[in-house]
Amino acid sequence: MQGISLGTFRGIDIRLHPSFLVVFLWVLVDWRRFGDQRGGSPVWFGVLFVVLVFAAVLAHEFGHALMARHFGVTVHDITLSLIGGVARMGPLPHRPGSEIAIAFAGPAVNVAVAVLVVPLAILTLVLSGSSGVDDIGRQLFRPGLLSVVLIVVFSNLLLAVLNLVPAFPMDGGRILRAVLADRIGREQGTVVAVRFGQVLAAVLGIAAAVWLRSLALPLIAAFLIFAAQLELQSVRIEYTLRRLKVGQFAVWDMGGVSPDQTLAWALRGGPRDVVVTEHGKVVGMLWRNILLDQLGASSSNRLVRDAMDPTVRSVTVDDSIYDVEHRMAEADRWAVPVTEDGTYRGIFTADRLSHVYRQLSPEFSRNPGIRLSSAVSEFLRGFAR
Ligand SMILES: [Zn+2]
Repeated sequence: MQGISLGTFRGIDIRLHPSFLVVFLWVLVDWRRFGDQRGGSPVWFGVLFVVLVFAAVLAHEFGHALMARHFGVTVHDITLSLIGGVARMGPLPHRPGSEIAIAFAGPAVNVAVAVLVVPLAILTLVLSGSSGVDDIGRQLFRPGLLSVVLIVVFSNLLLAVLNLVPAFPMDGGRILRAVLADRIGREQGTVVAVRFGQVLAAVLGIAAAVWLRSLALPLIAAFLIFAAQLELQSVRIEYTLRRLKVGQFAVWDMGGVSPDQTLAWALRGGPRDVVVTEHGKVVGMLWRNILLDQLGASSSNRLVRDAMDPTVRSVTVDDSIYDVEHRMAEADRWAVPVTEDGTYRGIFTADRLSHVYRQLSPEFSRNPGIRLSSAVSEFLRGFAR
């Protein structure tokens, strides 16, 4: 479900998730009725309306993404979906200052856009001879420069205000967590920010159901409560993985193979990824698939040196599982050599990683309804294959 690419901006891929089709379908099916109640707004204007609103979402996500990149975070892409936008990024820094800057950058872009467009809005409002708030309400859906300008201002302001609510999973919740992290620690800070967000969402959801007799708002509230719970879950898993050392889970090895041995010799223990060492130091990695390819090419007297990957980077026994998982993902490798005081000790693989997740899942699946850790380990098992 990668969606289609709309192009790139500043090296960041912009993608449209398939669920976005629902938004356009809604416009095509329902805008006529919706528009008629608002003085006959045509369907093409409905499409333009959606495009403008999602442009504000895109601007918001670019705020996060570019600020994150400023702090050295890898940004993969930005995906627009039915429920908004998501910037897929590598692990964020845990320094409260940069966390606040990244969380704040999204709403800040929206405020900046709104502030830049407000003079134009006032000018067009004056030129069109409109006066008063009632007029703005009617103007919003009437095709023309004024409505376009007003939609840009309102959608950006609304996004900024909504996202600054200090409740997970909104940006404001992240800012609150970063502020709390200094005082009570990041893990405890997340619990407080998540619970605060859940209580707020529940109160607003119930209030909307009782007074506004709305069904959509309580549903959004339920979604927010669930999303906040998932965030809490993933932070708990993350902290457990940060406490576990990779040395506890590596497969110990007697010394790897020498670069001067033959490929046939390297295969004697069966087809597997083999670490190449010289005087106890890691000098490369002989990947299983390359090994099999080379042997198939009837060159079994070739040396390990010719087929090994010398770019592989080792981790140490004291590195956390969390760090190692991210380094493996970034290097797109399913195994990594483990060293102790510079000497090769063993290998850590995606298989071992999914073992770690399996060990963790009883602890996390006690929480009813959410089995994120087992879902992650399922995913990793697929990755290991
Ligand atoms: Zn945001």
